[in-house]
Amino acid sequence: MKYNFYAGPAILPREVIEESARAILNFNNMGLSLIEISHRSKEFIAVMDEAVELTKDLLGAGSEYEVLFLGGGASLQFAMAPMNLLDDNQSAAYTDTGTWASKAIKDSKLYGKVDVIASSKDKNYSYIPKGYEVDPKYRYLHITTNNTIFGTQYKKLPESGGVPLVADMSSDIFSREFDIDRFDLIYAGAQKNMGPAGATLVIVRKSALGKVSRQLPAMMNYSNHIEAGSMYNTPPVFAVYTSMLTLRWIKQKGGVGAMQKLNEAKAGLLYDEIDRNPMFYTPTASDDRSDMNVCFLMNDKELEGAFLAKCKEAGCVGLEGHRSVGGFRASLYNAMSEEGIRVLTDVMRDFERSHG
Ligand SMILES: *Cc1c(COP(=O)(O)O)cnc(C)c1O
Repeated sequence: MKYNFYAGPAILPREVIEESARAILNFNNMGLSLIEISHRSKEFIAVMDEAVELTKDLLGAGSEYEVLFLGGGASLQFAMAPMNLLDDNQSAAYTDTGTWASKAIKDSKLYGKVDVIASSKDKNYSYIPKGYEVDPKYRYLHITTNNTIFGTQYKKLPESGGVPLVADMSSDIFSREFDIDRFDLIYAGAQKNMGPAGATLVIVRKSALGKVSRQLPAMMNYSNHIEAGSMYNTPPVFAVYTSMLTLRWIKQKGGVGAMQKLNEAKAGLLYDEIDRNPMFYTPTASDDRSDMNVCFLMNDKELEGAFLAKCKEAGCVGLEGHRSVGGFRASLYNAMSEEGIRVLTDVMRDFERSHG
């Protein structure tokens, strides 16, 4: 038994892994594998339709939104979002809250005027900037709701005075409730909290499209993908199917609100131990601590290797921190059980007893 704390690709519900493994061998009793049937077969179209409907249902997205499953990862959306939403003579506001946000900013500058209106770079992205004004001239405000590498998360959506939000939600989509009406666009790579790598979820407000004057390559145009029901080209069928199974699982567990309660309780257990245990600390500002990715360090860096070895012995894997932060990162996505976190906090307490 392993407790999988990897940041991404990441833990999925065991039932989902088992069912998708069965579908690789024999999908829907067709005598064929899921990955050897046409994406235009009625069996696969049913999968895509269910994935779209579950997304809308779980997030409360009405008919003004379209849901797409595309290739290219969240990273392609760094360019695709401004290409489709921001004209050359318009400006957009971005917040710089980490590595992924910085990459989104870099690409957006190719397609319009971009102002970084708030940043937490001054303190190695250990907090979420607050107290800034958003000028109504901006076409949108782009945020990264959860900063996977630095372990910070917007606990409240920023005030934007009516300026629509665009968000990279790769590492916290379906982990908690939020007001979808504030958004013109949401995107998320599947491989953090939803499925295997290869699919990217895009939720876009229909009325936000078709307003830029530039020519768009066919594959970069959301409208083409909408018209084709995410089948303008061959979609990543296995990633879409497995994501759909995860969405079914979330719904069966009570939906996003139920996930949120569990996630808050799970993260609370780990942060409480980090705060209590004199051997560990977290660099993350207390108001902005992510429920998905918990970054923590040791006061005595020399002991980090020994601690990781103890974690591995207990079955806890994937805890190495990102190289830009160091220390440890425990990713506690929806599929991580409370038991996994109790095993980890037990190792932390044992380590305090033997080395403290
Ligand atoms: C992992 C991650 C990305 C990059 O996703 P890819 O699918 O690899 O392009 C972007 N943003 C956030 C917040 C992430 O966690």
